[in-house]
Amino acid sequence: KLHNLVQELKGNIRVFCRVRPLLNEEIKNNGGSDVIHHISFMDDRTLELCKSADPNGSTMSGLKGRGAGTIEFSYDKVFQPSSTQAEVFEEISQLAQSVLDGYNVCVFAYGQTGSGKTFTMEGDHENEQLEGMIPRTVKHIFSTMKQLEDKGWSYKAEASFLEIYNETIRDLLATPKEAKNLSYDMKLVDNKKNEHYVTNLKVVPVTCEAQIQKLLKMAQQQRAVASTNMNERSSRSHSVFQLKLRGENTKTSDACEGTLNLVDLAGSERLKESGSEGARLTETQSINKSLSNLGNVIMALGQKQSHIPYRNSKLTHLLQSSLGGNSKTLMFVNVSPLEMCVNETLNSLRFATKVN
Ligand code: ADP
Ligand code: MG
Repeated sequence: KLHNLVQELKGNIRVFCRVRPLLNEEIKNNGGSDVIHHISFMDDRTLELCKSADPNGSTMSGLKGRGAGTIEFSYDKVFQPSSTQAEVFEEISQLAQSVLDGYNVCVFAYGQTGSGKTFTMEGDHENEQLEGMIPRTVKHIFSTMKQLEDKGWSYKAEASFLEIYNETIRDLLATPKEAKNLSYDMKLVDNKKNEHYVTNLKVVPVTCEAQIQKLLKMAQQQRAVASTNMNERSSRSHSVFQLKLRGENTKTSDACEGTLNLVDLAGSERLKESGSEGARLTETQSINKSLSNLGNVIMALGQKQSHIPYRNSKLTHLLQSSLGGNSKTLMFVNVSPLEMCVNETLNSLRFATKVN
């Protein structure tokens, strides 16, 4: 109850921190040790980061005394490396399900490249246990829809999947041929109802979870075809998966509409503008700008400011009707357990505190 009250006072923005485990090859490189020396978990909402590196060795165990350079961070939830996809989903299922009640919901994954954003959102398509939040959410929504049929509800669902790169929108569900024809004409427009949509975006009606898996695979192929280095590309663009639901109740003649947005953000690593030029510089500036603008929008909403700078970037403009009002927002801040990433981890944790 107290937690609900806190949520109410804070509004509809929640922040979850997830620390990924060390990967097998990283454990090998660390001499078989998988101990994360610079992050301590206090309870399920608080972690401590020890920033000062040990100048004499590779381990930080000498600093376990929690002295200078130790910073505490608290969020709505902290997931340790051992947390499973199922455990993480458990914490977001209610939020995701509220699209069926007509809420607009946004779930973001923020963090440096390699911190586990895509693992959290999409996961491993080949292994059911490792499926991420997108397939789990969709599965959960479809099974809840089935249950609501008894009460007279019937729903229509439509999915789209797009990418924002350098402030341009690209359709991840279009075939290469379609993409060629349409890419020049994908614009973000506002209609009279103040809804924001993308012209020529492929919108696919879906009736079951299996179709979503197919769409995710298609998007992955699309990205692979369009780029020589898929990771490089996805680290420099935001991908937005949207599921629009329209519900009608034949018994009560109620109706509702909700949109679920699941967003895998571009890598948050600080990109130096000084070293880059030309296309790289434009790219860098556009990522820095859109991520900091997203932070500003969420912060402005949290503080209930009268002006929300939605229009300062494509991402917030696109998501305008799903951010603020009576919509719900969840931000995953994904961090790496690697010591060498400690500065980026600190930046991410700070960003997440700012929006929380
Ligand atoms: P990002 O999308 O932030 O660049 P990824 O999701 O691609 O990062 O994760 C980097 C690597 O770490 C991938 O090989 C991924 O499978 C792995 N990984 C990330 N999070 C976890 C996790 N919670 N459990 C196991 N492996 C993970
Ligand atoms: Mg990724």
